[in-house]
Amino acid sequence: MKFVIPGDRIGLVEEYVAGNGVYEQSGEILAAVAGRVVVREKTVSVEPVKKLPCIERDDVILGRVVDLRNSMALVELVRKKGFERSLMHTGVAALHVSNVQKDYLKDIGDAIGYMDIVKARVIDAKNLKLSTKEVEMGVLKAICSSCRHELVRDGKVLKCPNCGNVERRKISPDYGKGRW
Ligand SMILES: [Zn+2]
Repeated sequence: MKFVIPGDRIGLVEEYVAGNGVYEQSGEILAAVAGRVVVREKTVSVEPVKKLPCIERDDVILGRVVDLRNSMALVELVRKKGFERSLMHTGVAALHVSNVQKDYLKDIGDAIGYMDIVKARVIDAKNLKLSTKEVEMGVLKAICSSCRHELVRDGKVLKCPNCGNVERRKISPDYGKGRW
C-alpha cells in the first residue's frame, strides 16, 4: 500500500494507463489527489483519502505515521479520543512541518519518525490536517530507526535501550505511558 500526495510521481506513461486521481505530464503519471495508489490491469489510479464523517475540527486523534516527506507526515488515523471504535484503515491525515511544534522546524524528520504513534489535534476536518503544536500533543511511541527496538524517553530526547541510538521527536508528556 503506497500513499501519495498531489504531484508525486507514480510512474511512466509507458508503464501504465492513467486512471482516476492521476494526470499525465511530460511522459510521467502524477498523483492529482492524496490517497492510495491502486493498480488494476495496467491502469493506475489514486483512491482519494476521504473525509471521515465522524472526524471533526478540534477532535483529538491517535494515529500512526505511514509516510514522511520533507515537509509532511502522512498519519493513518487509528482512534478518536472519547470513542472506543477503531478508525483503522479509514483515513490518512496530513501533518505539515509548520504544524508540528511552536518553534521553527526545518526538517520534519527531526520531530516525527516513520511508524511513530502520535496524538494530534484535527485543525481541518475537510482536508484532514493535523497539528501537534500543543504541549500535550506529539509522539506517544516510537521505534529506533536503526534497530527497531522501542525507544524510551530520556529527558528531551528518546533513547534506544538496545543500541544506544538517540533520536529527536516532538514528544508528548504521555510518551510511553500507555495512555493518551
Ligand atoms: Zn536501536
